[in-house]
Amino acid sequence: MVGSRTLASFRLPPLPTIGEILKLYNLRAEKQLSQNFLLDLRLTDKIIRQAGNLRNATVCEVGPGPGGLTRSILNAGAADVLVVEKDSRFIPGLQLLSEAVPGRVRIVHGDILTYRMDRGFPGLVRKQWEDEPPDLHIIGNLPFSVSTPLIIKWLEQMDSRTGPFAFGRTRLTLTFQKEVAERLTASTGSRQRSRLSVMAQYLSTVKNCFTIPGRAFVPKPDVDVGVVHFTPLPQPQIRQPFKLVEKLVRNVFQFRRKYCHRGLEMLFPVAQRLELTEELLRRADVDPTLRPVELSIGHFRALADAYASLCGECDGMAGYEFREELRQTRQSRRQRGREPRAGEPVQEEKC
Ligand code: SAM
Repeated sequence: MVGSRTLASFRLPPLPTIGEILKLYNLRAEKQLSQNFLLDLRLTDKIIRQAGNLRNATVCEVGPGPGGLTRSILNAGAADVLVVEKDSRFIPGLQLLSEAVPGRVRIVHGDILTYRMDRGFPGLVRKQWEDEPPDLHIIGNLPFSVSTPLIIKWLEQMDSRTGPFAFGRTRLTLTFQKEVAERLTASTGSRQRSRLSVMAQYLSTVKNCFTIPGRAFVPKPDVDVGVVHFTPLPQPQIRQPFKLVEKLVRNVFQFRRKYCHRGLEMLFPVAQRLELTEELLRRADVDPTLRPVELSIGHFRALADAYASLCGECDGMAGYEFREELRQTRQSRRQRGREPRAGEPVQEEKC
C-alpha cells in the first residue's frame, strides 16, 4: 500500500546523474525547442518544495526532459507521477528512471497542449471544488513559448472546471520567464500590472516563489526564470464568463498608459461609443481617469458586471470586436476600390 510507505522507501536507488544521462543518450539541447536543463538536484528540490507536501501525491510533470525535476518529485514521495514529454529522445532515459521505481512513473510521449489531462488520473483523486485542493499537482519547467499559452488555456479550464480542474482545485507549480512571473503576480498599481495579472488573480491565488538565474540552466538561456505557484480560488473573484472578462481586460490594457475609459470605449460600436462607455463607468462606479494598472480586481468585477448587463440589453454587443469590424470595413472598401483614410471613423449600426 502506497499510504503505508515510509519516506525512506520513496528515495531513489543509485542512478546515473542527469549529466550522465545526457551523455549516455547523447541528448543535446535543441535550441529551436528552447530546451534548457536543470542538472542541480538541490535546485530541483527547491522548486519541488514550492508545490507543497507531495508525499503520496499524484503529479503530472510537463516536459520532464532528462528527468531532473522528476527525480526531485519522486524523492519528495509522490506515489503516481505522470510525465508528458514531446521529444522522443528523452523517452529511454525516462524509462530507465521508471524501472528504478516500479509503478510510480507513467510516461506519455505527447504534446501537453493537446493531451487530455482529464483522462490522465483515476477518479479517486477527485475532490469537490469547494473542498481542499486534491492531492494532484501539475509541475513543469517548460519552454517559455509553451508555458504562457498553456497558462492561459489552464486559466480558462480553471473557470470551466475542466481539464486538470475536473479533479478539483488542482495546484500548479510552473516556471516562466522572470518578467512573465512578475506580470502574473503584479499587484494593483505596480508597473508590471497587465492583462495576465488580472486574468490569473481573479481565478487563483498566485505566488511568485523565487527567481532562478539563467546561469543555473544548461545551456544558459538569455533570461532569468521565475517559479510561480497557483491555487485556484473556491469562488472566482469575477462571476462572469471567462471570454467576457478576457475581452474586457484585453480592451482596457490595449491603451495601458491612457485613462481606462480609452480602452473601454473600444468595447462599443463607434455610433454609441461615448454614451455607452459613460453608462458602463457609471454603473460600475469606476473613475474614468484611473489608468489600467490602477484598476483592482474589484474594479474589474464591477466593470465586468456592468458590461454583462449592457450586453444583455443590446443584441450583438457581446460579439462586437472593433478590430474585426475595422478589418471588415477595410476589406469592403478595398473591394469597392477605396482605402479608408487614417483615423477615418467606421460607421456602425445602432443597437
Ligand atoms: N524539465 C526538464 C528540466 O528542468 O531540466 C527539461 C526542461 S526544458 C526547458 C523543457 C522540456 O519540455 C523539454 O524536455 C521539451 O522537450 C519539453 N517540451 C517542450 N514542449 C513540450 C510540449 N508541448 N509538450 C510536452 N513537452 C514539451
